[in-house]
Amino acid sequence: MTANKIMNAPSDLIEDYIAGLVAGSPGLARVGGWPVVVRSPADRKQAGRVAIVTGGGSGHEPAHAGFVGPGMLDAAVLGPVFTSPSVDAIHAAITSVATDAGVLLVVKNYTGDRLNFGLAAELAKAEGIPVETVLVADDAALGDASGAGRRGLTSTVLVHKIAGAAAERGWPIQRIAAVAQRFLERSATMGVALSACHVPGAAAPNFVLGEGEVEWGLGIHGEPGRERGALPSARQIAAALVDEVARAIQVRREQDVVVLVNSLGGTTDLELRILTGGVLAELDRRGLRVRLAWTGPFLTSLDMAGASVTVAAVDEELVGLLADPAAVVAFPHSAPLLDPGREVVIAPARAPEATGGPAARVDSTAGLHAVAAEICAAVIAAEEPLTALDRQVGDGDLGTNLARGARTITAKADDLLSLPTPTAYLRALAGLARREIGGTSGPLYSILLMGVAESLEGVGSPAPSDWAEAFASGVAQVGRIGGARPGQRTMIDALVPAAETLTAGGSAQAAAAAARDAADATAHLTAALGRSSYLGDRALGVPDPGAIAVAIQLQRLAEALASD
Ligand code: ADP
Ligand code: MG
Repeated sequence: MTANKIMNAPSDLIEDYIAGLVAGSPGLARVGGWPVVVRSPADRKQAGRVAIVTGGGSGHEPAHAGFVGPGMLDAAVLGPVFTSPSVDAIHAAITSVATDAGVLLVVKNYTGDRLNFGLAAELAKAEGIPVETVLVADDAALGDASGAGRRGLTSTVLVHKIAGAAAERGWPIQRIAAVAQRFLERSATMGVALSACHVPGAAAPNFVLGEGEVEWGLGIHGEPGRERGALPSARQIAAALVDEVARAIQVRREQDVVVLVNSLGGTTDLELRILTGGVLAELDRRGLRVRLAWTGPFLTSLDMAGASVTVAAVDEELVGLLADPAAVVAFPHSAPLLDPGREVVIAPARAPEATGGPAARVDSTAGLHAVAAEICAAVIAAEEPLTALDRQVGDGDLGTNLARGARTITAKADDLLSLPTPTAYLRALAGLARREIGGTSGPLYSILLMGVAESLEGVGSPAPSDWAEAFASGVAQVGRIGGARPGQRTMIDALVPAAETLTAGGSAQAAAAAARDAADATAHLTAALGRSSYLGDRALGVPDPGAIAVAIQLQRLAEALASD
């Protein structure tokens, strides 16, 4: 998390956010002069439909403007960061979308929001607009101990969904308020922060968490939580959060529930899905039936790292409303019900056997494998230096990737040795390179080996010139499919001179030396392809790791052949 922010003047933050959101979302418009986002004119004010209005301080995006649209909200009012919007802004939102059917306000339980929304509701009622309010107070961390009551957290988003769906179905305002209330009675949220958040333009974060430290039961405004602890595993976080919410809503086995796993802004989808897995497993362990699940950033705290989990006990009516379609920026269009009996793992399609090809014997598989094993040993020994080079000019995985392939080939010696022909052997190596090495090199080595195999197909007992031609043909395939020519800082720089040396009748040692010279010379080239090309001249002085890897392998190949 960083204090660096993409923004213009701090004072324009909310205006710039609204402008960008509306400009890129055809379903949205703003109310002129007010920090209020509404549905675009065509979707506004359907007679007889209750309008759903919410809002609060900013800094929780995509809440709430990201939930404006058919099936959820009619209007969202945006206050400054972590500050309730003004009475007049809320009043402007209410009057902009009000219909005869009335306006339902969804308000999170914070003193500022209660006052401002409460007063705006009174003004609107005095003007003859029917207004009802649903207050969200779902924070499991604080319990009811605080005088201000539980804080309003992520259940708010699900209330938007329920109320919006009910309004779309044409329900009257009292019935919508009642169903939202029923949902809230058994919905709770608990979160954990892994870092503080930075208010854009502010000098310092609201609080500081050390490395490996977490804060349980935080507030979404950067206010500290209930207690600090050491960073647990995802599984432990899932268990602790589910424990807390399950206790708050007192669920029993067999109960139908829905669950929402929410990023506090700075936590990645990668981590969030891991947490979701843990949360679903915990709910399952308690015998609860999860009917719907959502994962994503819904109600954030700026860039705070961490997550919250909302669990609610539901009945069929609530499940139906939650599963109704919605067309908004930041909530899935529709949520398919979870089916516990469904297959989550399917059998892979059978990979073609690597033993194909005509059975014409060209050479001994054992001899080939002895050389391959030597090359693998060289690659494994070079893992560190190759990775270090790739770290400088690429993404730092080349040594690891090649060594992984080499280890697998070494480990599969028995299988490989049982292959009937050297071409079958080369094709099997190509398959392993493709599957095990990955990255850019994996497929390229695979193409090289396939090219060599194809060229040797049917050759009874290949002479050195046959091997030279086969190698050159594999290299040509790498050039054709990879699109690289010599001089572009790729493995082609090492492969081409080696192939040329061999086809001109040079020895394996001469080919290895040519590859080494050319690989070293890549230090003076600017990359046109591959990751190094993103660096431009900054890669100068460091040789291309892929070319160096080729030189290392050819050198060991030459040594292995010489010692035959
Ligand atoms: P990635 O960049 O996907 O992590 P690797 O680390 O597996 O790829 O491989 C990086 C090497 O791939 C580079 O050092 C370069 O030699 C080689 N390379 C990149 N693009 C090409 C290409 N089009 N043709 C041949 N070699 C390439
Ligand atoms: Mg790489």
